[in-house]
Amino acid sequence: MTRVGIPQGLFYFYHYPLWKTFFSDLGAEVITSGPTSRQTIDVGIDHAVDECCLPIKVYFGHVYQMMQQQPDYILVPRLISTEHRSYICPKFMGIPDMIRATMPDCPPLIDITIDCSRETRQLWRDIYQLGTLFKASRKSTKAAYEHGLQEMRSLRVLVRQGYTPGEAMQLWENNGEGQTLDNNSDICVGVLGHGYSLYDPAISLNLIQRLRDLGCKVVLLESCSRDLVEQEAARLPKKVFWTLGRKMLGSALVMDQSEDIDGIVYLACFGCGPDSMVGDIVSRKVNHKPFMLVTIDEHSGEGGLLTRLEAFCDMLRRKQVRELESNIPAYGFYAHSH
Ligand code: SF4
Repeated sequence: MTRVGIPQGLFYFYHYPLWKTFFSDLGAEVITSGPTSRQTIDVGIDHAVDECCLPIKVYFGHVYQMMQQQPDYILVPRLISTEHRSYICPKFMGIPDMIRATMPDCPPLIDITIDCSRETRQLWRDIYQLGTLFKASRKSTKAAYEHGLQEMRSLRVLVRQGYTPGEAMQLWENNGEGQTLDNNSDICVGVLGHGYSLYDPAISLNLIQRLRDLGCKVVLLESCSRDLVEQEAARLPKKVFWTLGRKMLGSALVMDQSEDIDGIVYLACFGCGPDSMVGDIVSRKVNHKPFMLVTIDEHSGEGGLLTRLEAFCDMLRRKQVRELESNIPAYGFYAHSH
């Protein structure tokens, strides 16, 4: 049986159900590189160029770990755009070439080009071409890809309910068995960031779980209404043509107006071009809620992050108490009671 390796980094958090279903339906065995560990990060740092952002370095680490399992192919898509005329960071475009250049012993890469700004038939032509690797007919390749899209949509439903993509994937793989959401929280924090850093506990230093442990309900960008996010993003003077950047900006504006959200945390990666601009615009546009920008790199420590998150949550709670007190009339609540 042909073995296809899927590195557990970058768009894994968005597209894994699609590719897992697709390759499995075509009769392949799908293996992954496993969750990010300190070793993944260190190996990635050794293989990637110094100028790369942390998520790209980590991806190199995953590809290296994948190689150790000796799959027949490793899936490293060349992502250009996932929506019409809206683009993904150019680093994704060059990643198959960077990997071939720095890891010459790597098994053959499946570097299918995903560019939804081209005509759809070109994407289908590439998908059919990929099917021939597994000796699949056009009909079964089409059915496998459509099945994959359907599975990816079912995962998105779970993410909209408040699960992180990692938790949703666990539920998806274990037929609904996994973590349940705890809704007993006194404060609610909106969290923004690129999914591949935010939803990878090793990269984000477990930011989401830390907030939950501090008693927060966490609202993710994927839980915001898609129409509202696009509507808010369209109010900006200039269109943001990065898909993820536009979604983050739109979600920040939606969260800023939401009565349920007490504060917003934005996780940025050091060395990320889009973050340096989007993070700055978000911090200027969020005017109604306390906002905290956390920038991480491979040297960031958990202790520093925890201290900042604790201080942020304390501040949100103090603000809640102050607002409650300012609603108490000077004569008290019971001045007219008998
Ligand atoms: S958007 Fe930023 S974090 Fe994402 S791959 Fe590009 S440079 Fe790296």
